[in-house]
Amino acid sequence: MARLYDSRKRILVTGGAGFIGSHLIDRLLDQGHEVICLDNLFTGTKRNIDHLHGNPRFEFMRHDVTFPLYVEVDEIYNLACPASPVHYQHDPVQTTKTSVHGAINMLGLAKRLRCKIFQASTSEVYGDPSVHPQPESYWGNVNPIGTRSCYDEGKRCAETLFFDYHRQHGLEIKVARIFNTYGPRMHHADGRVVSNFIVQALSGRDITIYGDGSQTRSFCYVDDLVEGFLRLMATDEDVTGPVNLGNPREFTIAELAEQVVAMTGSGSKIVYEPLPQDDPKQRRPDIGLAKSTLGWEPSVQLEDGLVRTVDYFTDVLKTLQEA
Ligand code: NAD
Ligand code: UDP
Ligand code: UDP
Repeated sequence: MARLYDSRKRILVTGGAGFIGSHLIDRLLDQGHEVICLDNLFTGTKRNIDHLHGNPRFEFMRHDVTFPLYVEVDEIYNLACPASPVHYQHDPVQTTKTSVHGAINMLGLAKRLRCKIFQASTSEVYGDPSVHPQPESYWGNVNPIGTRSCYDEGKRCAETLFFDYHRQHGLEIKVARIFNTYGPRMHHADGRVVSNFIVQALSGRDITIYGDGSQTRSFCYVDDLVEGFLRLMATDEDVTGPVNLGNPREFTIAELAEQVVAMTGSGSKIVYEPLPQDDPKQRRPDIGLAKSTLGWEPSVQLEDGLVRTVDYFTDVLKTLQEA
């Protein structure tokens, strides 16, 4: 729906009331665009978008992406999907439907509108990787029938759909494979490691390391990630991805726990709990492609990003105590 007189776009962000989606919307509004935030509020919350009400360029639509959607927009960012293991395993069938039916509906919408569409894919498409670090050319090592499969296979199938709509219908697609991302507006109870450790440290509860803590992850601050989304969306038509977006600095989970304890001055003690099924042993993105095609690399160090996230959770916990 190209506009005749201005460069302002009308942009649909599915999953916009979630952690990453709400940061993306802030950036798009800052750039002067109009945004429709679509969300069924399964894991997202109105708190993440409260500050946007009253902005005439912002609109919230409560809707589930597994159902068809008829709107008129110029671009689509498809982020709707629970992302933390606790949430996506709560109703695994709905998780697969969200990724697969959600992708079909959003691709159908993009096909009717002939508009660009971005998919928030994930490093989970690599499963428990046997190639390290993971380049986009690695096909992954995913268990198709385990407890993480609803998420991993759903996202893999969504990628397949994106590439088939691209080949079959000539759609312009942008697929980002996102690695572990953290920052303000993560849900305090969503079970992901950064939010768990910080909330546990701030409230003086035991810090729960699953397994022996030797497994690794690479943590990207949300502002860096969103910058990568915008750069990928702005590329020429022939750039489809998939492109890894993540921070290549790799930490063990034990190192992360120590860092959070030191930073918060917490008296919490570290305890060890069983490792969940199919928990990947290691994960680090190869971001060579993002560097060469997008000129992108993360700039926020873990120490700095953690300080901002600790500040955020300090406020959240205060509000929860007062409520
Ligand atoms: P989040 O849970 O905060 O956000 C997901 C949003 O999608 C929520 O607001 C939720 O209510 C909404 N949603 C879920 N199912 C829906 C449905 N059927 N219809 C409409 N809305 C629905 O998670 P996030 O961390 O912001 O993740 C955003 C996207 O990025 C997800 O697609 C996720 O898979 C992907 N991703 C995130 C990470 C990460 O580390 N955070 C890593 C890889 C990929
Ligand atoms: N769709 C939608 N909005 C639109 C166009 C399509 O939600 O504006 C959905 C519709 O439910 C359809 C799906 O997208 O089932 C896939 O559309 P497509 O045109 O690719 O397939 P078809 O309609 O031929 O099954
Ligand atoms: N983890 C942990 N303690 C927690 C939460 C998670 O040790 O309280 C571990 C988890 O087993 C995994 C890593 O931290 O090895 C990252 O977990 P998260 O759920 O954040 O992301 P994902 O496994 O999807 O990368």
